[in-house]
Formats: sequence, structure tokens, C-alpha cells
Amino acid sequence: MSLGVLLVEDDRELRATLRAALDVEGYRVLAAASLADARALLAHGQGVDIVLLDLGLPDGDGEALLAELRRTRSTPVIVISAREAEAPRIRLLDAGADDFLVKPFSLGELLARMRVALRHRGTTARAAITRYTHGDLLVELPAHRVVRGGVDVHLTPTEFKLLARLVRNAGQVVSHRQLLADVWGADFTEHTHYLRLYMGQLRAKLETDPADPQRLLTEPGVGYRLVEGED
Ligand code: CA
Repeated sequence: MSLGVLLVEDDRELRATLRAALDVEGYRVLAAASLADARALLAHGQGVDIVLLDLGLPDGDGEALLAELRRTRSTPVIVISAREAEAPRIRLLDAGADDFLVKPFSLGELLARMRVALRHRGTTARAAITRYTHGDLLVELPAHRVVRGGVDVHLTPTEFKLLARLVRNAGQVVSHRQLLADVWGADFTEHTHYLRLYMGQLRAKLETDPADPQRLLTEPGVGYRLVEGED
């Protein structure tokens, strides 16, 4: 059965382009040009498995729809927006968006992010991701094991907790606030210098060139993303 995408985008040209492209990929596309259209489609209860959400819409802000969705559903939401300001992006992630793409973005990137978001929603219902491979790196969370190039890598307990948090959301951006709260605790959400320090240590141990990371990526002003694993 094909997966349903609710595409909320008021730019007619972009909507048509995305609809055609998602169609080719086998998704069933429901397109909405406004918040009202989107609410009507959601109310009719046709299968919506993932939402692509623009923010600037003629009858309001997409953020309002995100809040409504999160009150009742866990459907993944990817924000697609031209806004570059950092604060709203962080707020959107904290409000329950799964990811965001800043326009213009490539179709390949969008499809990859959709796959990750759908897989995460699917796997959280079954089993959490506990094993991660990428090139010569292997992480097995239950065994607390990290191997790089066939050699065991020693991580401190905090380094391991931070890596584990990113492995569970591999492929997705995790905000500074989420990482600080989950690794250090709710009282530490402003201590971004901890993150910079520990991310530097992790990169030194897990990256070929820590100055040019290929695995532990920075999302400027927002958070970090461990690239999608290869399993
Ligand atoms: Ca718009």
C-alpha cells in the first residue's frame, strides 16, 4: 500500500513539482494550498502517513497546524520553509517537527529525510534503533560497544550517552536543548558549551578528520545530526 503524504504548500509551482516528484516515487499525495485546505483533508481522515509543511501560508502560519497535529497524532512532520532564522527552527523541533528543510532543497534530500522520518516513527512502535554502522564505524548500544576500523574505541560514560542519543535518531537533527536535557538533565538545557566540548571529543575519536566531520554533523544554531546509518 502506498504511503500518503499531506503536502501543505501555497506556492503553486513548488506544489506541482513536489506532487509530480512524490507521485513518481510511489507516494499518494494530498495537496493543500492553505491551512484550511490542510485541516479539511486531515478531518476527512484519508490516510496521512507524513506531512510536508510550509510555514508562510495565506491564512496563517504552518506552526499552528504543527501544534494541532501534535495534540492528537504522532504523524511525522517535515517543515519546508524559506525562513533561515534559527530561533523558529529550534522552536519547531521542540514543538514536535521531525525535521526541516530550508528552501531551496534538492528532491533527493527531501526523499532521504522523509524515509528517515517514516522509519523512525515505524521503529519506535516496534524496537528502538540500537545498532548503527557507517563505513568503518560500528555502534552496538546494548553492549556499550563502539568499534572503528576493527578496533574498540573507548568512550567516557558521557560521550557514550551523547552518541547513543544521536544513534537513536540517526539521520535526524536533534536540537541542542534535546541533547542537553537527555544527556545531562533538564537543568542543563542552556549549557551548550558542554555539547561543543563533548562533540569535539567524539569527533576526535570517531571522525577521520575531526575538523571536517562526515558523521557527526553540525546544524548551525540548531543542533547536531548523526548521518543516516547504512544498515
Ligand atoms: Ca509559503
